[in-house]
Amino acid sequence: MDDPARRPRVVIIGGGFAGLSAARALARAPVDVLIIDRTNHHVFQPLLYQVATTALAPSDISAPIRWILRRQKNVATRLGSVQAIDRTTRTLRLAEDDAPVPYDYLVVASGARHAYFGHPEWEAVAPGLKSLEDARRIRRRILLALERAEWEADAAERDAQMTFVIVGGGPTGVELAGVLPEMCRGAFRPDFRRIDTSKVRVVLVEGGPRLLPSFPPSLSARAAHDLARLRVEVRTSTFVTDVDADGVSMGAERIAARSVFWAAGNAASALSRLLGAPLDAAGRVLARSDLSLPDDDRVFVAGDIAAMPWTEGTFVPGVAPAATQMGQRAARNIRARIAGEPTTPFRYVNTGELATIGRHMAVASLAGGRIRIAGYVAWVFWLFLHIMYLVGFRNRVSVLLQWAYNYIFYERGVRLISEAEDAVRG
Ligand SMILES: Cc1cc2nc3c(=O)[nH]c(=O)nc-3n(C[C@H](O)[C@H](O)[C@H](O)COP(=O)(O)OP(=O)(O)OC[C@H]3O[C@@H](n4cnc5c(N)ncnc54)[C@H](O)[C@@H]3O)c2cc1C
Repeated sequence: MDDPARRPRVVIIGGGFAGLSAARALARAPVDVLIIDRTNHHVFQPLLYQVATTALAPSDISAPIRWILRRQKNVATRLGSVQAIDRTTRTLRLAEDDAPVPYDYLVVASGARHAYFGHPEWEAVAPGLKSLEDARRIRRRILLALERAEWEADAAERDAQMTFVIVGGGPTGVELAGVLPEMCRGAFRPDFRRIDTSKVRVVLVEGGPRLLPSFPPSLSARAAHDLARLRVEVRTSTFVTDVDADGVSMGAERIAARSVFWAAGNAASALSRLLGAPLDAAGRVLARSDLSLPDDDRVFVAGDIAAMPWTEGTFVPGVAPAATQMGQRAARNIRARIAGEPTTPFRYVNTGELATIGRHMAVASLAGGRIRIAGYVAWVFWLFLHIMYLVGFRNRVSVLLQWAYNYIFYERGVRLISEAEDAVRG
């Protein structure tokens, strides 16, 4: 039984799209909210590839969670990594503190990680892109590869340093593959004397028959065409069979590459397995239609960690608008439970899909694929949408202008190699 003398405690795990939107949707509710994240910042993941390729600085696409929620008086923020969830005692445990954290209602919104198709050892040599740390690691590898190539006497080794393989032809892989050659041809070129950075080789490998499998086929074809114009080698229907520090194998074919980046496959955050709820093959929680666990009215899931049925035989995609909508729905259903009212099923409103190809082209599938745009117009649309979002969470026009300046003119400071030594080769 809840103590009627105190306000219900709602704990939200994760300050990503789902967690933040849940917290905001509880702004006027008679509850005390605690949002816990293992980092102190929210990251705008759709622009991570820009950080990885030195187009933007980490601070351009992230902001402290505490700062974002500073005006919402019923929210407290805690830096901590959740390690255990006990639904019987309604408590959490953090890695950093032995004291249990109690909740009356819980929203688990801890997102997803990369999946390496049963080869976790590939992660060390082929980093994926989910966090600012991942983006910095990839950026560092790109910059070090070019530094090494500049002074490499052996031609084969120089070529391997200047070869970048990206595994996975979804939006992240396409965006990384598109912007890399542009950076090398544009911003990097005048800085080097011995190598011609415009000669970098970028290979994009996709296991399925086409790029951007969730887009209409015509836009997949357009993306492949635009990437070919940027001299990206696109390999579809091709499976990676091995990855090591020297390159990638695809069956009998081997590409010598010192930089391999992973953009294929997602698995739910490890917290899904702590809930004791049914999971799908990707480890996502199979929740009830109102986002609560099948056997627990007080625990909700939202965002990439949740597997919610969508159209026949498919699940709601792991995209930012879906996570935001789920966070809002989970929060509203908590309010309903507290008020003793019925909860409402989650319904995904599909706002469309966008992917950029380099810095001036994009493809967009809107209104369930009925509206399709490609090329420069789609890119301007992409830019407008992202600027609108960043305005919302960065909240200062001056910061926005600086962001736009960095984006258009390539900020040099982002090309500093300053992080600690990377575990593998760089
Ligand atoms: C590179 C990339 C590009 C993308 N591009 C697009 C795009 O163009 N358009 C689009 O709509 N979507 C895009 N997405 C998908 C979109 O970003 C995700 O669907 C969305 O971020 C999911 O939101 P979430 O809140 O579920 O998880 P996240 O945003 O991942 O947030 C999860 C939070 O939980 C925290 N956390 C995890 N585990 C713990 C723990 N144990 N304890 C405490 N905190 C924890 C994490 O630190 C993180 O802050 C992209 C994703 C990536 C990775």
